[in-house]
Amino acid sequence: MAKKYQLIVVGGGPAGLTAGLYSARAGFTVLLIEKEVIGGQIANAERVDNYPGFPKGISGFELVQLIQQQAMNHGLETMSGEVTGLTSGYGNNMVSTTEGDFIAQAVIIAGGLQFRKLEVPGENEFMGRGVSYCATCDGPLFRDKTVAVIGGGDTALTDALSLSKFASLVKVIHRRNQLRASKVLQGKARADPKIEFIWDSVVTEVKGEKKVTDLMLKNTQSGTISLLAVDGVFVAIGLIPNTEYLRGVLPLDEWGY
Ligand SMILES: Cc1cc2nc3c(=O)[nH]c(=O)nc-3n(C[C@H](O)[C@H](O)[C@H](O)COP(=O)(O)OP(=O)(O)OC[C@H]3O[C@@H](n4cnc5c(N)ncnc54)[C@H](O)[C@@H]3O)c2cc1C
Repeated sequence: MAKKYQLIVVGGGPAGLTAGLYSARAGFTVLLIEKEVIGGQIANAERVDNYPGFPKGISGFELVQLIQQQAMNHGLETMSGEVTGLTSGYGNNMVSTTEGDFIAQAVIIAGGLQFRKLEVPGENEFMGRGVSYCATCDGPLFRDKTVAVIGGGDTALTDALSLSKFASLVKVIHRRNQLRASKVLQGKARADPKIEFIWDSVVTEVKGEKKVTDLMLKNTQSGTISLLAVDGVFVAIGLIPNTEYLRGVLPLDEWGY
């Protein structure tokens, strides 16, 4: 028989942990389910400077460990597993997971986001060997190297500016000839002598041997194919909410929000 809780929280990032802390402290029986490692995206942050109470900043990993400890001190139960389905019924929701089914009077969805991928050959193969989705995490590995940033929004330009502190050259590859990023970021990026732009181009393949060596590019206007030598590529083309299992259960827009 499925075990019952008053509340189930899906996702163990800062949002899920905070929900778990408040509800456990309020005296509810609460199970938090996390499919990877508790902490979510912030666990990758080298230093978090904007969390109240830490005037000198704190590493993301340390921060989530503290929040988890605080929540567990108030009785939060955590479980490792992926939520794969939800059957919604007022006061009696069935939560299906890779570890079995659970019943909860209420469910809080705090599954966060994942990075959108290029979906081209070589991307998965060279992940962690030149392909990255996190400039803050991996930028220092590319000191004095040539890197590419894919995208044209705020994230792409923030990544390019952060990478230019380490890399010798940062090539921003954008599928259009205009950026979506804010004017302030555009101004900073255009003024940075280490940042160059490659317009109207998409990556069709990530090439390499042990590590990334080149990107195969296709010009979206002329169709011309070219090879660009790089040591690393940072993909910054957006985020996807982790809500696939909620399709048909909750109203979602076309982007999954
Ligand atoms: C490198 C980096 C540095 C950052 N630095 C800062 C900073 O300095 N300051 C700041 O304010 N923000 C920072 N951020 C942003 C911050 O990390 C996010 O805003 C925050 O983590 C969002 O929290 P969340 O709990 O909503 O989602 P997430 O952190 O995305 O956590 C969601 C969790 O839910 C889990 N999950 C998803 N689906 C399921 C499922 N079906 N079953 C079970 N578990 C599931 C995921 O595995 C994940 O652990 C940074 C982000 C990154 C990547």
